[in-house]
Amino acid sequence: MSDFACKECHLILDEKTCPRCPEAEVSREWQGYIEILNPESSDIAKEMGILTPGRYALRVR
Ligand SMILES: [Zn+2]
Repeated sequence: MSDFACKECHLILDEKTCPRCPEAEVSREWQGYIEILNPESSDIAKEMGILTPGRYALRVR
């Protein structure tokens, strides 16, 4: 996979900058992802501190 993931919020990105954390580093070294549709009703989203729907990497190195 050629996508990047933000090291700060774990959002999966098509570009090298995270729109939410422009200061954060991005990485190609990430594993697994989860699609969060309803952060309010998702336990994983709460655990990961995700507030906005989207695709998130489970692990970012
Ligand atoms: Zn981010």
